[in-house]
Amino acid sequence: MKRIAVLGSTGSIGTSCLEVLDGLLDQMVLVGVSAHQRWEDLAAQTHDFSPRWAVLSDTELSGVVRRSAFSEKTELLFGADELSRLASHVDVDIVVAAIVGAAGLQSTIAAVEAGKTVAIANKETLVVAGPQVVELARKTGAKLLPVDSEHSAIFQSLQAGKGREVKRVVLTSSGGPFRGATREQLASVTPDKALKHPTWEMGPKITVDSATLMNKALEVIEAKWLFGLEPEQIEVVVHPQSVVHSFVEFVDGSCIAQLSPPDMKLPIQYALTWPDRMECPGPKMDWSSTWSLDFHPPDRELFPALDLGYEVARKGGTCGAVLNAANEIAVERFLQGELNFVDIPRVCRAVLDAHNFDPSPSLSELVRLDVWAREETTRWKSSRSI
Ligand code: NAD
Ligand code: MG
Repeated sequence: MKRIAVLGSTGSIGTSCLEVLDGLLDQMVLVGVSAHQRWEDLAAQTHDFSPRWAVLSDTELSGVVRRSAFSEKTELLFGADELSRLASHVDVDIVVAAIVGAAGLQSTIAAVEAGKTVAIANKETLVVAGPQVVELARKTGAKLLPVDSEHSAIFQSLQAGKGREVKRVVLTSSGGPFRGATREQLASVTPDKALKHPTWEMGPKITVDSATLMNKALEVIEAKWLFGLEPEQIEVVVHPQSVVHSFVEFVDGSCIAQLSPPDMKLPIQYALTWPDRMECPGPKMDWSSTWSLDFHPPDRELFPALDLGYEVARKGGTCGAVLNAANEIAVERFLQGELNFVDIPRVCRAVLDAHNFDPSPSLSELVRLDVWAREETTRWKSSRSI
């Protein structure tokens, strides 16, 4: 039995992961779950799966939660350090990193340090500290398996050839809810509208990231580190139906793609069962109806976040940590009505420009810069209306 810990089990990826695990209980056992604040949801999961540990990372909840709401078979723990202890415990084989944002960094690194197989949804960890995480995994033998649908598609497609035969990878993007919008329409986008994604159901942060195309920017950086690619080998194409999840172009011109309906259960399950494939509870393609799949280049002027991603992928060093932190705070401020939608890439640009670049930072320097960039972004005021 593979022993699985799901960090961020109450989120969109976390709950889909538990649905997948429900179908794999003959070969896997859920030993750990975690949430930040939604303790009632976490408590319900302990009754469904009887995991050995449940971690609430927000320590302030220790005086609030009802212990009796949790399964008696589960030990309830509090605080971010307990997340790292769970992620590195000898009785855990696979860690699903499904926390949102740089908050997932510490526990993901703990899992990599302990040599675990890490099913990584938490792309922000790779954006902040890609080279450090990849180097650590090389030393400890930890396996990093992608959960992000595009990266899972690339991982699957790569199996059609050898590493040296890869010409480039093409990441698909739905284009988000504002594909084809005018500059004026973008300037008046409300949080309500940004939170309605046309093809995917996801947590609020990544949904806003998908609307600004910052998600694709972060995914370019994620692809660079996961697959050891140069930014010039990574292309982005808009594909509104979200059926082709990405493809790899080999040197002979052959493009190998992975297709499935837009649902995260398949890429989550593949990371858990790799190198095997199993029946999956996700929806299947219906080839009896008429399909058309469209592809077109992204509008880089309307969505400047994308080029920020390429710039950060090229420069590396401290840029990823700064871009990520600025974006996390910008999204929060947008959702609270303090910033306009179009301010999100602007403040990221300003904070990136203002930071002291270091080409080879230590992890502690990255953590310090993350704090700095959050403060800068919190202070930033827009001086433009469009
Ligand atoms: P979500 O907001 O739905 O869930 C986030 C989870 O993280 C919750 O369990 C929450 O309790 C926990 N969490 C939040 N803040 C925390 C903190 N400070 N400390 C510890 N835990 C905290 O997010 P999601 O959409 O499931 O996304 C999770 C990760 O997966 C993100 O990195 C996202 O980019 C990535 N991802 C998501 C999808 C998707 O379809 N949702 C697809 C690809 C990649
Ligand atoms: Mg994705």
